[in-house]
Amino acid sequence: MVNITNLHKKFGSLVVLNGLNLKTPESGIIAVLGPNGSGKTTLIKSILGMVVPQKGEIEVNGQRVKRHWNYRKNIDYLPQIANFPGNLKVQELIDMIKDLRGKEARDQELIDLFKLEPFLQKKLSNLSGGSKQKVNLVLCFMFDSPLIILDEPTSGLDPVSLIRLRKLIQREKEKGKTILITSHIMNFVEEISDRIVFLLEGKIYFNGTVEELKTSTGEKDFEHAIANIL
Ligand code: ADP
Repeated sequence: MVNITNLHKKFGSLVVLNGLNLKTPESGIIAVLGPNGSGKTTLIKSILGMVVPQKGEIEVNGQRVKRHWNYRKNIDYLPQIANFPGNLKVQELIDMIKDLRGKEARDQELIDLFKLEPFLQKKLSNLSGGSKQKVNLVLCFMFDSPLIILDEPTSGLDPVSLIRLRKLIQREKEKGKTILITSHIMNFVEEISDRIVFLLEGKIYFNGTVEELKTSTGEKDFEHAIANIL
């Protein structure tokens, strides 16, 4: 699904990605982990065509990445920080994004899942961080694309919403989709991921299952296994 070869990205003299290679399976949930500043968001934005690497190739479903809206609108993306105008009402925002994408949307199903009905006529600026994140999740998941990229989808969510999110992601995987996810909540990552991809010094330092990670680090506990890499 996503095939990355020899990716290099520098910002000025700062080398962020340094010959990164990654091939994801046709479907499944892949967690992209690594310390702060290790290049997770840069990698994600490169796949989306939002960051232009100095060198390397990225293909999504056999198609070369393009810096073009028509390319990007076939990927469902939850950004780490969404900067929508605060004076928009939730319903207005959902309608605006639907118009922009011009695709069939399943917003109502997701509004029901995250219990957002009472918030639809509220302005974004009046929502709590957690409620805003649920709105962002509706916007991300409503188009049913084959590749979903989630940058910190768990941030601000209460435990019940986390369970709903986990079930939603698992359902999407069962449809045969590829889901790339970053998160700081390690038990969420452990429960949900088919593969762990760990970035270090601009490359993929580890790529394998949770069990393989535990075995290779000699740790029974996932969080300890991650800490052991560092
Ligand atoms: P992560 O998501 O793993 O925390 P990022 O990909 O956000 O890491 O950032 C990797 C490094 O690149 C950081 O040191 C960050 O400050 C730097 N960086 C990211 N984007 C830019 C940019 N547009 N201009 C300059 N430096 C950037």
